[in-house]
Amino acid sequence: MALENDSELKEFIRKAALLNAVGHGGKAQTGAMIGKILGEKQELRSRVKELSSVINSVVSEVNSLSLAKQKVIVEKNWPETQKRLKVEEKRLPPLTNADKYPTVVTRFSPNPDCVLHLGSARAILLSHEYARLYNGKFILRFEDTDPKIKRPSLKFYDSIRKDLKWLGAKVDEEYIQSDRLPIYYEYTEKLITDGNAYVCECIPEEFRKQTTAKQPCPCRELPPTEQLEKWNTMLNGGYKEGQAVVRVKTELENPNPAVRDWPALRVIDTKKYPHPRVGSKYVVWPLYNLAAGLDDHLMSMTHIIRGKEHYTNMVRQKYMYSYLGWTYPEAIHYGRLKIIGAFLSKSKIVQGIKEGTYTGYDDPRLGTFAALRKRGITPEAIKKMIIDVGIKSNDVTLSWETLFSYNRKILDASSNRYFFVPQPIELKVLQTPRIFLAKLPLHPDKPERGVRVFTVTPEGEEETVSLWISRKDAEAMESEKIFRLMELFNVRIESKSDDSVTAKFFSESYEDVRKIRVQLIQWIPKGTELPSQVVMPDSSVTEGFAEADCKKLKPDAIIQFERFGFVRVNEVDQKLVAYYAHK
Ligand SMILES: [Zn+2]
Repeated sequence: MALENDSELKEFIRKAALLNAVGHGGKAQTGAMIGKILGEKQELRSRVKELSSVINSVVSEVNSLSLAKQKVIVEKNWPETQKRLKVEEKRLPPLTNADKYPTVVTRFSPNPDCVLHLGSARAILLSHEYARLYNGKFILRFEDTDPKIKRPSLKFYDSIRKDLKWLGAKVDEEYIQSDRLPIYYEYTEKLITDGNAYVCECIPEEFRKQTTAKQPCPCRELPPTEQLEKWNTMLNGGYKEGQAVVRVKTELENPNPAVRDWPALRVIDTKKYPHPRVGSKYVVWPLYNLAAGLDDHLMSMTHIIRGKEHYTNMVRQKYMYSYLGWTYPEAIHYGRLKIIGAFLSKSKIVQGIKEGTYTGYDDPRLGTFAALRKRGITPEAIKKMIIDVGIKSNDVTLSWETLFSYNRKILDASSNRYFFVPQPIELKVLQTPRIFLAKLPLHPDKPERGVRVFTVTPEGEEETVSLWISRKDAEAMESEKIFRLMELFNVRIESKSDDSVTAKFFSESYEDVRKIRVQLIQWIPKGTELPSQVVMPDSSVTEGFAEADCKKLKPDAIIQFERFGFVRVNEVDQKLVAYYAHK
């Protein structure tokens, strides 16, 4: 039978091609596949020629599909191959005990009291990435149960959703803790009924004195029936703020005094501090360990990936888990990720905005995702950096430059090039022999993207060409010195004043001046310029002119201004406004 009519073989090749394509960014490699297929189907060795023609046709069909489509087909037909493939692709270490659970479930659980910043990237991206690697579930849980001190604000729920979307973290389920108070009450009642929690009326100092001495406070020993009465009094508003807390019992001998009989719920005067979502409906609010601890089990969390500062919280919560007969999820505690020079403290960000020090949550001086997005830092770069750092329990310190170098690799390949002349000064080139047409590629490695075309026409008796160059370049110009205007021609400086430089045409070819190592500078023909502003990382503004082709750019385009840096276009109209990313 001719191989091309052998449907079983074709299906076999199709599977190999799809797997190979998914492993190679969407393009299957024919050569590697021939070897693999011959290895498995030795009877075809005498028919290599026929086989490669079948492979070629299948590969070209597979390669015409998008990577996303290829992934869908593979996941649908051969899901078992995916776990392994993806783990190899991303280089994250396998998740502890992933095989123990039918579905891996992870979560990110922010308090919506501020926008998110780079400090959250690790929790978000690792949790999300592992959920995807194991075809699991990624949960977003808003932990908004402190209407008083860490008060949530409605706008931050949305900004957090937006940031996750931007980072590529797809949320499978979303929960909001302020919707779940009846659930927390129900379990608290159970804990109290079973004698595992109690209402404590002690003033904090007294309580601390007792527990430091490993002694029970007087409230602890009362029978559950009395505890339940007090609990109901709490719920009905019978206690004021600070008059009572519910505590979960632990061993009083626990070596860490901060673990002993930890506080689980407290009273908040929501008449005075209404919750932005549920107002004054509740006066008893759960603290972190009760709400997060219950939710992790109730939401079937299998893996909690979080900073090691949460280690003690796990110790606290495990008491509650044992009372309820639950098993604690796998907990992975990573070290702190510090970015040198980044403003990552929530309270300082909020305060700075209130006081007007920062222009907003996207002020370029901040390390918020909103600011990074505005500057043209790509989510891909953040993700790559986080995955490269991986899960380590030691602290990791990175510099901005580390993030920029990840971003640069991405932008260098994707960004088109344009001329921008900061703080422009006029350059008059005399004795220009003819009209010059300069064609510059939009991207040096991607000729298919096309070119920008500049026409430079000499005028007047002296055959003068007028161009804009940057003040910084002008400052380096001395009489007799030769410079090359990029892709145009070489000039020799004659004289200069405060606001202009006069030069003479020297020669056309770069070869003429390459040996003397002249400086290549960017330029813009006078009269074609687009007034521009670039907001710098310190929030200062650099004024200048961009080349005319920049008028065609759309907001959000990330481009490279040659010899200046990568910028993200924020608006284009009569003027271009861009934000500076990095060199
Ligand atoms: Zn007490």
